[in-house]
Amino acid sequence: MAALELKTKALSRRRALQALGASALGACVPSRPAPKIEGGIVGGNHTRGHRVRKVKGARPAAREDVGIAILGGGIAGLSAAWAFERAGARDFVVLELEDAPGGTSRSGSGPITPYPWGAHYVPVPSPDNRPLVALLDEVGAISGRDALGKPVWAEEVLCREPQERVFHGASWHEGLYPRDGASAEDLRQLGAFEADMRRWSQWRDAAGRRGFALPRARGSEAPELKALDRLSMARYMDEHGWGSARLRWFVEYGCRDDFGATLVQTSAWAGVHYFAARLDDDGREAAEFLTWPEGNGRLVAHLARTAGPRVRLGALVTDIRTESDAVEVAYEDAAGRRAALRARHVVFALPRFLAPHVIAAYRDSPPPGLRETTYGSWMVANLTLRDRPASRGFPLAWDNVLYDSPSLGYVVATHQSGRDAGPTVFTYYLPILDEDPRRGRERLLRTSWAEWVEAILADLGRAHPGIRDLVERVDVYLWGHAMVRPRPSFLWSEALAAAARPLGRIHFAHTDLSGMALLEEAQYWGIRAAEAILRERGHRFRSWLS
Ligand SMILES: Cc1cc2nc3c(=O)[nH]c(=O)nc-3n(C[C@H](O)[C@H](O)[C@H](O)COP(=O)(O)OP(=O)(O)OC[C@H]3O[C@@H](n4cnc5c(N)ncnc54)[C@H](O)[C@@H]3O)c2cc1C
Repeated sequence: MAALELKTKALSRRRALQALGASALGACVPSRPAPKIEGGIVGGNHTRGHRVRKVKGARPAAREDVGIAILGGGIAGLSAAWAFERAGARDFVVLELEDAPGGTSRSGSGPITPYPWGAHYVPVPSPDNRPLVALLDEVGAISGRDALGKPVWAEEVLCREPQERVFHGASWHEGLYPRDGASAEDLRQLGAFEADMRRWSQWRDAAGRRGFALPRARGSEAPELKALDRLSMARYMDEHGWGSARLRWFVEYGCRDDFGATLVQTSAWAGVHYFAARLDDDGREAAEFLTWPEGNGRLVAHLARTAGPRVRLGALVTDIRTESDAVEVAYEDAAGRRAALRARHVVFALPRFLAPHVIAAYRDSPPPGLRETTYGSWMVANLTLRDRPASRGFPLAWDNVLYDSPSLGYVVATHQSGRDAGPTVFTYYLPILDEDPRRGRERLLRTSWAEWVEAILADLGRAHPGIRDLVERVDVYLWGHAMVRPRPSFLWSEALAAAARPLGRIHFAHTDLSGMALLEEAQYWGIRAAEAILRERGHRFRSWLS
């Protein structure tokens, strides 16, 4: 762990701002030394992950027989384990590289509160998303049922008020859209955009399916909708004459938030999905958010408990080979020892980009379209504060967003536990938006902890001038291949459809098979892979997906 005396050095400052991808954040240079800040870069395990490329093909002599090997302990892998467990098929093992389960939904904790390292909320699901409703019921998010049998969501998991505020001009305002100072034309365009999203949320195909649903597999495949995928969200807005800077910022905020992508990098289908899939059937009400202090880490902990000791942490999958009646999976355990499983079936719940590195059959001849899946990076930092920083205007909310910032701002980890004063933890989110994701990743990994701290404080310092004096520690998590990008012409491509087809006894399951990184998608693919295997085994069970 490093400690930093925040005497700003010009060079480090310039590099820090480059790390944010920003040039306009230079306003807040501290005039005097501030207290020491503790912390460091605490994840992810890039060095270990990159070993896959070095040790690929290495095979140990001894092999352990298992029924099912689930590779990857993120939401998709853990959801597959959950589906097997609920169906009474308990002969599985989960191999997870990191020292904790959860992948991009994992969480951490400190003396003040638990906090998220990635995913931090899920919108209230539609009642027909049965597996998600069941999972949320198991974690106590449902307090009862109404007269129609619909879930009543527990107060403590529905995001408390105030939910959102935006820093615009020199002060904070309620909500995400900066209404203060908006022109009549800005507001007209906002109204037209909202009406358009309502129209899409009410859209039904001939079979009565929603146009945009969560998970996306529940939605329509009508050509009229698929055509949207050929446009970028920027182009969609251009075609509607929506040039208002505030509206474009607002919609791009949604794309950066859910997809880690700009308006230009986002397919119009995905951009519309972000808004329309979260409106109710009438297109009137947006779904409320369910959240916990540790974000979706609460769901991870429950899923990991369900799988129990069958989750093996620190297990790096290095090689997968198909035999006539089984699949051999080689891995390195936490102590660096080589081991292997001989599994009758495999759920490959690793990100798709790893397939040509670890699947022997793909090494020499990768399937066409494999490289169509591209990933953006993220930096997430948890800032421990001895007290709340002062802010002008609307008070501290759960989600605190800065207009004109490359970051998404921060979420307050103590918000949901109702502690509105005293020490807290801010979870700060920065998507890396470079057009070339590889360059963005290199910059992410090159930037030092001290530079990240400097960049974060420069960004937040605009809205909270005294924040440096309150920050005790900053822990940083670097997500290299964080989120699949829903680029134009990708979501309905043959390349993406092919990625989901099994390779013999290997079934694929990861949110990137949807082209969008969301809990609903990860859960869907995990359960889908599990059910395909249960069917192959002739196992009798009730499907969650029908
Ligand atoms: C910063 C950030 C914020 C997000 N916020 C939200 C949110 O608020 N709500 C939401 O719904 N979604 C959010 N997401 C999306 C999130 O990715 C999904 O919700 C979901 O967690 C994806 O799960 P997954 O299992 O498909 O993938 P992953 O999380 O990628 O899981 C894959 C797992 O495989 C493991 N692994 C990788 N290589 C190996 C190997 N060689 N051997 C063994 N194991 C390996 C990884 O460690 C990981 O645990 C966010 C994502 C990020 C990055």
